[in-house]
Amino acid sequence: MAYIKHGYPKLVVDLGKLRHNIEYVKGLCADEGVEIAGVIKGCTGLVPCAREYEKAGVKFIASSRLEQLAALKEEGFKTPLLMVRIPMLSEAEDIVRYCDYSLNSEMVVLRELDKCAGEQGKIHNVILMADCGDLREGWWDKDEMVAAALTVEKELANLHLAGVGFNVGCYGSIVATPEKIGELIEVADRIEAALGRPLEILSGGATSSFMRVLDGNLPERVNMLRIGEAILLAYDLPVLYGYDLSAMHQDVFTLQAEVIEVKDKPSHPVGERGFDAFGHQIEYEDRGIRRRALIALGKCDYGDPDDLLPRMEGIEILGASSDHTILDIQDLVDQGGDLKVGDIIEFDLKYSTMVYLTNSANIEKVFVGE
Ligand SMILES: *Cc1c(COP(=O)(O)O)cnc(C)c1O
Repeated sequence: MAYIKHGYPKLVVDLGKLRHNIEYVKGLCADEGVEIAGVIKGCTGLVPCAREYEKAGVKFIASSRLEQLAALKEEGFKTPLLMVRIPMLSEAEDIVRYCDYSLNSEMVVLRELDKCAGEQGKIHNVILMADCGDLREGWWDKDEMVAAALTVEKELANLHLAGVGFNVGCYGSIVATPEKIGELIEVADRIEAALGRPLEILSGGATSSFMRVLDGNLPERVNMLRIGEAILLAYDLPVLYGYDLSAMHQDVFTLQAEVIEVKDKPSHPVGERGFDAFGHQIEYEDRGIRRRALIALGKCDYGDPDDLLPRMEGIEILGASSDHTILDIQDLVDQGGDLKVGDIIEFDLKYSTMVYLTNSANIEKVFVGE
C-alpha cells in the first residue's frame, strides 16, 4: 500500500530554542556545582534533539528506554549514556552494551549486569537508588541498601559503584524539599562510611529538584540532577509552582494541525445518549448554536485533548475521538476572526502530549532553528 505524505499533522521542533534551554539549565546548575543528565525520554529520544545535548556538553544523556539510548550509541554519541528506568533482568546484556551508567534497585539485576559486563570485557557504572517516600523505585530498607552497596563494591568486580540517587514527585507527588534531599545524603554518608571511600555521584532527582537550584537551597553534596521536562518544555515549574522561567523557551515544540470542517452546530448532542468512542459517559453543556471546527488528528496521536494548548485566542477544545479533534471557535468568530478548511492551527504541548506526539508515526517531525 502506497503511503502518501501530506505533511500534517506536523510537529515542529526548534533546536535553537532547545539548545538555549539546555545551556540555561546547565549554567544555573553549574553555579551550584551540579552536573546535569539531559533526560530525552519526553521527546522519545529524537536524535536531532539528543544531539543538542551533546553539543551543549552535558555530562550525561539519559532515558528510561533502552532503544533510545542504543540508537544514540549507534549514531556515535560520545556523551556517557544513563539508563534511568530500573533495568529489566532480560535486558541486562544490552544495558551493558549500550549504556555507560544505570540506576538500580535489585541485587539480582546487579549480579546479572556484573556477569554481562564480565562477558563483554567492560566495567559498567551503577547508581543505587534509595526510596525516600515517593514509593516508586529504590530501596526502602536502608540497611539492605548499605549491604547491597557493600556487595557491589566487594563482590561484583565488573561493576563500579558510582553513586547513589533518588527520585521524588513522579508517583507519590512528594516535593523535593531540602529536608527530603537530606535523607538521600544521610544514605550516602552511611554507604561511604561502610565503603571507606567517597561516592562520585549524588543524583538528587529530576525537574522537581531543579526548584532547589532556582531557590538556591539545594543541599551541597548533591552533584547531579536528571532533567527532562524543565528543559524540553519549561512548563511545570512556572505554571504549577510559580517560578519565573521567562528566560527559557516554552515553545520548543509546536503542533500544527489542519482544519477539515467548519460549521455552526448545536453544542448539545441531539438524540438518545449512550457512550462515547472510548466507552465513557460524558456531560455536554448546552450553549446553543456555536461555530465549530474539526482538525485532523485525535486521541491516537496525543492522548488527552485537554493537554493541548491552542496558541490562538478564542479557540476552545471541546473533545476528541481517535482521529478527530473538535474545537469551539465561536469566541474567535465573536472577536471578528474565523477559520476555514485547510487552515493550519498551532498548539503548545504539555509533557503527556509531547510524549505521545513524538512517539506517533503519524506525526511528521520537522526540525528548525539549527
Ligand atoms: C523521567 C525521569 C527523570 C526526568 O524527569 P523530569 O521530571 O522530566 O525531569 C529523572 N529520573 C528518573 C529516574 C526518571 O524516570
